[in-house]
Amino acid sequence: MATTEVKPGKETAPATFTSKAFAARSATSGLAPFTLQRRTPTAEDVQIEILFCGICHSDLHQVRNEWSGVMPTVYPCVPGHEIVGRVNAVGSAVTKFKPGDLASVGCLVDSDRSCPECNAGLEQFCPNITLTYNFPDKHLGGVTYGGYSDSIVVRERFVLRVPSNLDLAGTAPLLCAGITTYSPMRHWGVTKGKKVGVVGLGGLGHMGVKFAHALGAHVVVFTTSPGKKEDALRLGADEVVISRNANEMAKHAGSFDFILDAVSADHDINAYIQLLRRDGNITMVGAPEKPLPVGVFGLIFGRRSLSGSPIGGLPETQEMLDFCSQHNITSDVEVIPIQKVNEAYERLLKSDVKYRFSIDMASLKSE
Ligand code: NAP
Ligand code: ZN
Repeated sequence: MATTEVKPGKETAPATFTSKAFAARSATSGLAPFTLQRRTPTAEDVQIEILFCGICHSDLHQVRNEWSGVMPTVYPCVPGHEIVGRVNAVGSAVTKFKPGDLASVGCLVDSDRSCPECNAGLEQFCPNITLTYNFPDKHLGGVTYGGYSDSIVVRERFVLRVPSNLDLAGTAPLLCAGITTYSPMRHWGVTKGKKVGVVGLGGLGHMGVKFAHALGAHVVVFTTSPGKKEDALRLGADEVVISRNANEMAKHAGSFDFILDAVSADHDINAYIQLLRRDGNITMVGAPEKPLPVGVFGLIFGRRSLSGSPIGGLPETQEMLDFCSQHNITSDVEVIPIQKVNEAYERLLKSDVKYRFSIDMASLKSE
């Protein structure tokens, strides 16, 4: 039998530094202070001091393991993928950032950077992506830890420039809620002359309204919360429909070019399919825990289509940030200290946030 000589390798653990964070220890624990290790920047890395991090409903789904069938949660889980901060160190090969610059990070921190999707700048479709949290960490093992933390280290390609005219707390949510609503609107040709619906006026929905309005469309908001009507109009809606009112819904039958569904919970999407015109499209960005039944006749009659859309690639995310800079768009935020995060989750579940929580990460210093 042949033998193979195994030479001792030079297995040195990567250098790390300590960061403060908040983590969930289980699906029911809530979030509490946690200490984690970040890698010291390699040649291609940017180290960012996090100033603000938005709270996405995906953070809540993930922390409570509501997506266990698709992306089971590994604990401890440090969520957060709407990150804005200041660069405090860069690796030797970094060219676009220097210490002191503002920088931002969304849902992606790596990909294979060589597949056709990556070459097309559509990194969100790369088969080898690394999400910002709860994904295998290629450098340190274990899973990636997100933005409910005082720092993060990210490969330069996945770091976005922050326009200087935008409020930082309101910019953080653009990195997920912003790009997730901007990307399908660009893909489906939302523009002047189109009638566009936005379902669910939450973190994603309110960004969808701002973008559809800025792109020149006629915007109709569908909400289950009558109390949000005035806000919807202020945010850029031309009309507001209380979706639990069948008569109000029926008035819009067969009239929409495009509907963006940003609802986080179980709801009847067939009611919205009926509102599309011929060849109209409804895109799901909301990701409820349970499957939604679809009546196919609603699609067949009218050749309507139902799609989904995940975040966006790096070039389009930068384009969205620059669009926001030109149109002076940020998220409407309620800034909170990290110590209020569990309370914020409860309010998110009651659709009681106007319209995104943004965590002021300076509050971590006292932990
Ligand atoms: P959010 O701020 O909680 O907003 C969700 C909105 O949905 C609520 O404000 C509410 O709007 C509506 N809603 C809630 N429960 C409802 C119910 N039972 N029936 C009908 N409407 C209901 O959440 P978000 O952060 O915007 O996220 C929305 C969804 O998108 C989540 O599932 C999240 O995981 C997903 N997401 C997907 C992507 C992606 O890449 N596709 C990215 C980010 C987030 P009204 O009060 O106006 O009715
Ligand atoms: Zn998100």
